[in-house]
Amino acid sequence: MILLQNYINGELIAPKSNLYIDNYDPATGNIYSQIPDSDYTDVNNAVEAAEAAFNSWSNTTKDERSRILYKIADLIEANLDRLAAAESMDNGKPLSLAKRVDIPRAAHNFRFYATAIIHYSSESHSMEDKAINFTHRDPVGVAGCISPWNLPLYLFSWKIAPALAVGNCVVAKPSEITPMTAFLLSELCIEAGLPKGVLNIVHGLGPKVGEAIVSHPNVPLISFTGGTQTGKHIARIAAPMFKKLSLELGGKNPTIIFEDCDFERMLNTVIASSFDNQGQICLCGSRIFIEKSLYDKFKTAFVNRVNALKVGDPNDESTNLGAVVSKSHMEKVLSYVTLAQEEGGTVLTGGYQIQLEGRLKDGYYIAPAVIEGLDYTCRTNQEEIFGPIVTITPFSSTEEVLKMANSTKYGLASSVWTSNISKANIVAKKLHAGIVWINCWLLRDLRTPFGGVKQSGVGREGGNEALQFFTEPKNVCIQYQ
Ligand code: NAD
Repeated sequence: MILLQNYINGELIAPKSNLYIDNYDPATGNIYSQIPDSDYTDVNNAVEAAEAAFNSWSNTTKDERSRILYKIADLIEANLDRLAAAESMDNGKPLSLAKRVDIPRAAHNFRFYATAIIHYSSESHSMEDKAINFTHRDPVGVAGCISPWNLPLYLFSWKIAPALAVGNCVVAKPSEITPMTAFLLSELCIEAGLPKGVLNIVHGLGPKVGEAIVSHPNVPLISFTGGTQTGKHIARIAAPMFKKLSLELGGKNPTIIFEDCDFERMLNTVIASSFDNQGQICLCGSRIFIEKSLYDKFKTAFVNRVNALKVGDPNDESTNLGAVVSKSHMEKVLSYVTLAQEEGGTVLTGGYQIQLEGRLKDGYYIAPAVIEGLDYTCRTNQEEIFGPIVTITPFSSTEEVLKMANSTKYGLASSVWTSNISKANIVAKKLHAGIVWINCWLLRDLRTPFGGVKQSGVGREGGNEALQFFTEPKNVCIQYQ
């Protein structure tokens, strides 16, 4: 049994309680490791370590911080196979996906902010011949970073890298459901020579560890990615404490397909945008709207392609969908298939648990589902399912599809398929979403603002947005004599 440890003040240590939580391998349903069941004491120790390290780290030169972040990126790359295997085992995702996307992106996050900090500059405002203003951008202090289970190391590093780059110290909590690569990262940070206390990783449950970070008086900034309900709860605690808050929350993203799209290219991408990572990417398009004249052609071709997807052993190169992350998540996802039927939907394919053989017989596998015949206002089309379930709905006009697409409380991402650039621009402008992909999906430039509107979140990550969030501006005005 592998026993994970907290990373506090540069050391790998047991939780003060000496209690541990079981960690499951979703592919087999077996417990394969245990993680610290940490509490307020561990978080407080981490915050004290981060506070003690802050003066020195925030005064370390940009070049030195950059050098260490580069080193971490290099070590992530050097450990690609080990990290990808750990991510796949913890999360259930195909190993090939972890190798191709999750782990390289984690290295990229560190490298991106290692270079960004060197080129980062702040504003100055001239008042003609009267005065000059310039803006200091100082690190805030101890940053609390809390991340979810769907893209574990990828999203964990997306917060930690910019926070450290600008000179904050960090107390971070990965999801208790997928803690393994965060634990391995702590080993790599020690190897990279990250000074003690600069990054602290405390494992454990959200309501205990996460909440202790959010409510700690000496953590003035919280960067959170996770569910909308958790985000609301965090906002309620953080707002009266006047903390800086970034919330990246849930989604119910529309995919809009016009008749004049490049059909084959669209089909290949929409398969991915629907079912990559078992549909457990906050950016996946779970509501697919198709122009009426294309509906039947799309439905036949799409269902055929979905039927050809292989649900299987995450270690098998030919697997398209591995296991969903947990038993309770599988049950939640499948309950939406029942709900969809109650709401009048027809399941065209999938939507049931698949029992594999041998060591995988107790794993959490779902046949990817396509459902039609639902009203756009029903719960299946309004609530985030976060699994391999999509609905397909025809539309007759741009106005109609915009009304349906914008009807949810969420507004994270969207994708639009058309060869008419004017139409694409009009739709992009009118969609309630932080991100619009036209004739593509998940094409990411890390300099762009990332985040959602409405209940998909508050604030933006990425590029300069993250550097701004993790710093506090101070304007200095000098009047000329
Ligand atoms: P979650 O909200 O259950 O948990 C996220 C993190 O918050 C975990 O580390 C958890 O331990 C912690 N947490 C739970 N309760 C807490 C509390 N009371 N105080 C502080 N921390 C607490 O979300 P999840 O199930 O891990 O992740 C899935 C959700 O994340 C989906 O809704 C998905 O859309 C969303 N997500 C959003 C983005 C984005 O960029 N917008 C990216 C990935 C995932």
